[in-house]
Amino acid sequence: MQSNSCNSSLSADAILRHLGPLAGEFGLQVRAECASTNSELMDAPPADDGRVHVVVAERQTAGRGRRGRQWQSWSGGSLTFSSLWRFAPGAPVPAGLSLVAGLAVVRALEKLGVQGLQLKWPNDVLVNGSKLAGILVELQPGRGRTPAAVVGIGINLRLPDDAYIPDQPAVTDLARQLDLVPAPEALLASVLTELHILFDTYAAAGFAALRGAWQQRNAFADLPVRISGEGTDVVGICTGVDEDGALLVRTEQGLERILSGEVSLRAAQ
Ligand code: ATP
Repeated sequence: MQSNSCNSSLSADAILRHLGPLAGEFGLQVRAECASTNSELMDAPPADDGRVHVVVAERQTAGRGRRGRQWQSWSGGSLTFSSLWRFAPGAPVPAGLSLVAGLAVVRALEKLGVQGLQLKWPNDVLVNGSKLAGILVELQPGRGRTPAAVVGIGINLRLPDDAYIPDQPAVTDLARQLDLVPAPEALLASVLTELHILFDTYAAAGFAALRGAWQQRNAFADLPVRISGEGTDVVGICTGVDEDGALLVRTEQGLERILSGEVSLRAAQ
């Protein structure tokens, strides 16, 4: 692994160590501060040298969520990083990518002993209903080119007591879930390892191969949900996700498939 580090307390060497045999698969840039790790990779993607390029920042000044929303993070209190994945032509990008990324985060956290982890379609990681991590997948434009996606992940390590997070019913952090919060370098390496494994499976076999694992952790399985954001709200019972990652909602009109990620899912009364 080649790494670039600039005045950050995050240690590139430690990330390397934790990646072990996979270290050579990644190109790492460690930043003390940047506007948004996703923007770094979207605006100036490193040349394709066969590796997965990663930008991790101790502090983001303009962290982004979907649809222009903000991702909040605190120096030392959050892990924020993005990675650029290039897939072979014909790979099932983009459908399902956010879901697979969520599953990778969950698997890494489960191995650290976090309990009660759940996935909220399409892109949130919850612990018993409270948001612990967010994921922002952005596709790199370019017809005919190798499909490529930037996967941004923010995980709350220790939220400050006065943290104010708008539009979110409940949030949590790892300090509330574990006696010992892992070092960010170890957590980053662990999530990158799971992404590497699961994106390989996804590229080879599609979302269908991971659908069961996703559904086992579906926060809204068989519960009433409201999907809003585009046109008319869809209200019904969440019955799971389809073979391609579309959300399945049983409504009075029948079974609806929700494909777009540009919508929000909430519990319905
Ligand atoms: P939602 O989670 O409301 O369905 P979304 O999936 O579109 O929305 P994301 O793009 O994942 O949201 O993230 C942006 C939203 O996440 C913000 O609008 C805010 O409500 C919430 N948020 C921002 N920072 C944090 C944080 N550190 N921890 C938990 N939630 C956060």
